[in-house]
Amino acid sequence: MRIAVLALQGAFIEHEQVLQRLGVETFEVRQLSDWQQPKDGLILPGGESTVQMRLLSQLGLLEPVREAIQGGLPVFGTCAGMILLSEGYLGTMDIRVRRNAYGRQLGSFHTEGQVEGTGNHVPMTFIRAPYIEEILSPRCQVLAEVDGHIVAAQQGNQLATSFHPELDQDLRIHQHFLQMVAGETALVA
Ligand code: GLN
Repeated sequence: MRIAVLALQGAFIEHEQVLQRLGVETFEVRQLSDWQQPKDGLILPGGESTVQMRLLSQLGLLEPVREAIQGGLPVFGTCAGMILLSEGYLGTMDIRVRRNAYGRQLGSFHTEGQVEGTGNHVPMTFIRAPYIEEILSPRCQVLAEVDGHIVAAQQGNQLATSFHPELDQDLRIHQHFLQMVAGETALVA
């Protein structure tokens, strides 16, 4: 199994470290030639979604990435990565997201919660995080809510979290993604 990690900007190294702990091979996508390598899945890390969108576009990666996800490549977006998957950005996931939903200054906090298909007491670190304002199709399933706001969802091959599991020691969210990659979970057909 080989997972591509988008490495244009943001918290990509932390995802690579988690995957290495889980014994999974990773490679960084910095340009189109990297992207053309064989891969079983893709991680879109946190960071700044506007910067990431601009770089994806400038590097000619936007359409190839969109097509691969639409073609079924398993993808996991955290925070800014979740924004990239949403309507108005890559638009592969049927979600509408509110950016910086917790405010810019006091928007960072830590909690734990239940994540469908993953377990209880999952640590959740939010950093100027978005949440999902609206699920736009029944193909998309809510996996977690915090204070009445949707913070994790799955739509077939696509997983998105508002929070940053790569910044905590709990491996379950990444394990859930790797199970999707292995074709073991089909929460939504
Ligand atoms: N606030 C960032 C954005 O809107 C996301 C923050 C993050 O990824 N930690 O893109």
